[in-house]
Amino acid sequence: YSQDDSADDYLFKIVLIGDSAVGKSNLLARFARDEFYPNSKSTIGVEFQTQKIEIKGKEVKAQIWDTAGQERFRAVTSAYYRGAVGALLVYDISRRQTFDSIGRWLNELHTHSDMNVVSILVGNKSDLKDGREVSTDEGKSLAESEGLFFMETSALDSSNVTAAFETVVKEIYNILS
Ligand code: GDP
Ligand code: MG
Repeated sequence: YSQDDSADDYLFKIVLIGDSAVGKSNLLARFARDEFYPNSKSTIGVEFQTQKIEIKGKEVKAQIWDTAGQERFRAVTSAYYRGAVGALLVYDISRRQTFDSIGRWLNELHTHSDMNVVSILVGNKSDLKDGREVSTDEGKSLAESEGLFFMETSALDSSNVTAAFETVVKEIYNILS
């Protein structure tokens, strides 16, 4: 084992964005702590959470930022985006309005950060099959036209949650290494 591993440490700032109540905080809670909050009215206290991920034998730290609920007031600050190298753009597949907002979130992301931020479009709450208002194909085609990765997730039943975060982290790692 090399003693120099810490010198090779990677720390990637990744931001969660999207309308209120799409499940951003719960995606982070599921990913980082394997927890879920059925009735979270607003944000579960943390500014960011750091999660270790191993890629090709290297330890990468993802510092994932969650809004403190300020998206309700359309006032996510530029500090939130500063230095971000990755982003999860989250909507709720059971509320079309949150999908229609993605364009605005993309604009905001591009205004406040580098154009090369690795981004994934995330259709959350895939467990709500009966309440679906946005088809998988619509999500896919928006992602294709905007050059984003795409995944549908459920913070409730855990599906694709780890995969969504890891897709972003692995792509950043590939670009930077
Ligand atoms: P945020 O405002 O985007 O951070 O959203 P929250 O994480 O606070 O979630 C808002 C509400 O949606 C809460 O009541 C959660 O329990 C619920 N929720 C979050 N993710 C899911 C999911 O994948 N499936 C279902 N059915 N509910 C979810
Ligand atoms: Mg939240």
